[in-house]
Amino acid sequence: MGLIVQKFGGTSVKDAERVMNVAKIVTDTYKKGNNVVVVVSAQGDTTDDLIDKANEINPDATNREKDMLLAAGEQISIALLAMAIQKLGYPVVSLLGWQAGFETTSMHTNARIRRINSERLKSELDRRNIVVVAGFQGISRYGDVTTLGRGGSDTSAVAIACALHADLCQIYTDVEGVYTADPRKVKNAKKLGEISYDEMLELATLGAQVLHNRSVEMAKKYNLELEVLSSLTNAPGTIVKETAKMEKMLISGVAKDTNVARISITELPDKPGIVFKIFSKLSSKDINIDIILQSVGRDNTKDIAFTVAKEKGKQALELLNEYAREIGAGSVVLDENVAKVSIVGAGMETHAGVASKMFEALYDNQINIQMISTSEIKVSVLIDINDADRAVSAIHSKFFDAE
Ligand code: ADP
Ligand code: ASP
Ligand code: MG
Repeated sequence: MGLIVQKFGGTSVKDAERVMNVAKIVTDTYKKGNNVVVVVSAQGDTTDDLIDKANEINPDATNREKDMLLAAGEQISIALLAMAIQKLGYPVVSLLGWQAGFETTSMHTNARIRRINSERLKSELDRRNIVVVAGFQGISRYGDVTTLGRGGSDTSAVAIACALHADLCQIYTDVEGVYTADPRKVKNAKKLGEISYDEMLELATLGAQVLHNRSVEMAKKYNLELEVLSSLTNAPGTIVKETAKMEKMLISGVAKDTNVARISITELPDKPGIVFKIFSKLSSKDINIDIILQSVGRDNTKDIAFTVAKEKGKQALELLNEYAREIGAGSVVLDENVAKVSIVGAGMETHAGVASKMFEALYDNQINIQMISTSEIKVSVLIDINDADRAVSAIHSKFFDAE
């Protein structure tokens, strides 16, 4: 008996049958004497559809209005799930993000949770209600509806679990757990029994969408164990925790991120301050830089290339074109046909040759590497987007098929 937070993603509530299935899981948990808070996402592709609708009318609409629209998806889900739970004969109340006390920053479409005022949640639980909360949304200090960024419902669930000191936080999804690669793309992907926060955080940040990276960050901070499992089968899932048992694997997974663009600038003057000026121009417009490559200077000039999120590519190009002209640099080129493929694993810290194994897999398949970046527990390469799926499969086979 205790307090359990359960989160269900879009596919898990995509139609009436799936909503009833979720109601069954939730009420089975409640029936055992537990208090249950359920966090749900918008049904199926609702969020994508809403974005399309917005773009049809005005792609340049303010983010405030986009949030107002996007938050509607989760509102539908909570009401439908509450109705399904009522149908099974259990006491339930549905709450929007603001009703559940989600106070966020005012950065619309990518807001961060500042705190959860949990009074309402607690009083509903005291009344032994099952509480169904809309994921992905909150309210800013100006009283406006905000959303937490795509995939943000995971973070809503983890935040509630932390605020209420829940005994268990279960993230139900459409696959049976966290795998060594996207199980929909890589046939031999293996389900992991456990994974550490640090590895999961890297995988999530590098493109494995199974968990929102901020949910992992928060779980780590509060040392909350997460269980990722399927809403459709009874198979045991993956536990995300501080230290995971090494299953004799050099790496724990391969991830792909296609939301990247590369910018290169040639013939920059090779003198102090140039790199600083480029990156400060970008950061003043909130453009984050990821992988950076600088060539060895020659004839008093150097070249620089770096990656940004795809949606920031054009804006970065415009900014830098202007600057390049000012300082008499060569050309600025934007390439949107790139993808980042990464391997993640704590084993890398203690085993040599992990990166070279990855590079060998790419060489075997004649895939050219454009850029490389590494940290203690990951290696990422930038490659042509058309090679990305092939690269993920080849790297995955290299590390996992022989075992
Ligand atoms: P939900 O709607 O439940 O939040 P998401 O679509 O956000 O589900 O995340 C689940 C999906 O993440 C899976 O269907 C799978 O295709 C994808 N995925 C990518 N990488 C991985 C991985 N390493 N392990 C499991 N799933 C992954
Ligand atoms: N519905 C939102 C999205 O599609 C939030 C989520 O699924 O977690 O991004
Ligand atoms: Mg998700």
